[in-house]
Amino acid sequence: MINCKALTKKYGNFVAVNELTFQVQAGEVLGFLGPNGAGKTTTMRILAGFLSPTAGKASVCGFDVETQSTEAKRKIGYLPEGAPSYPEMTSRSFLEFIADSRKISISNRQRRLEEVHELLQLGTVLDQKIDTLSKGFRRRVGLAQAILHDPEVLILDEPTDGLDPNQKHEVRRLINRMSERKIIIISTHLLEEVDAVCNRAIIISDGKILADDSPKNLESKSKFHNAVSVKLLNSMNLNIVDSAINSLPEVASTRIDENNNSLIAFPTKGKTPLEAITKLGAAEGWDFSELHVESGRLDEVFRSITGGTAR
Ligand code: ADP
Repeated sequence: MINCKALTKKYGNFVAVNELTFQVQAGEVLGFLGPNGAGKTTTMRILAGFLSPTAGKASVCGFDVETQSTEAKRKIGYLPEGAPSYPEMTSRSFLEFIADSRKISISNRQRRLEEVHELLQLGTVLDQKIDTLSKGFRRRVGLAQAILHDPEVLILDEPTDGLDPNQKHEVRRLINRMSERKIIIISTHLLEEVDAVCNRAIIISDGKILADDSPKNLESKSKFHNAVSVKLLNSMNLNIVDSAINSLPEVASTRIDENNNSLIAFPTKGKTPLEAITKLGAAEGWDFSELHVESGRLDEVFRSITGGTAR
């Protein structure tokens, strides 16, 4: 378990992390979301034992990150921002060096190295120097070193940064696969990533927690939650359909998109307008080319919670 109590980091008078209190349990994939400068990296660096807090406490699997930092670090795999250090080393020798510094037993060493080479698909770059690798491969070497000792806790700072869409997909699958047995914290500014891998999201801004909930519950706070998207065949008159839908008691307002011959009907509080719209459409003989219910838009919730300062 990870336990943070009133965790605070100041740089001079500037408060980068402001009394963060939260716990994370095994099986949780926690997404740290927030605008640039929110304090995500600072918090992760404190948890990973690379930065001391100014005040407050944090522990990992029962070990205090300051006073028992060696034990805490053993439990953690940490992927920092950017590329692994040691640019002169090849990927292979870097990972062997990490295996040694993590004191992985001789009997496990080769097997673990081969497993992470395979998992992160590093085969073609193992003998290439790190500073000659593409950004995507550097990120994958970084991930390989983070998971090499099969830690109980993974702290990953923007794990898919620099990866192409296929590689992003692969890394997200890897995180999903590992998540059953581990605590995973990732920071990201990609809201689709939160949907894809996280079962909990903490939104921070100016060093403070503004929301702590499941992505589903956060989406349900969106004004798009239960809104109905309606697209009409080109032969249909959008304005007539719009005013009929707008007069339904289940519909609070609509937004039309003339270029697409479509509209979104936002629900009256607590209502789900799908059935009423479907019935009205059937009675009036409307030709829909698309009709679907929105689950909610995390990006809109994120922007409203963080005051529009999202990257
Ligand atoms: P995020 O990861 O959410 O983008 P950071 O944790 O990197 O945010 O930074 C939080 C705030 O702390 C930012 O305003 C940043 O400029 C500031 N900061 C980070 N490191 C230092 C430092 N070493 N000295 C002074 N200010 C810093």
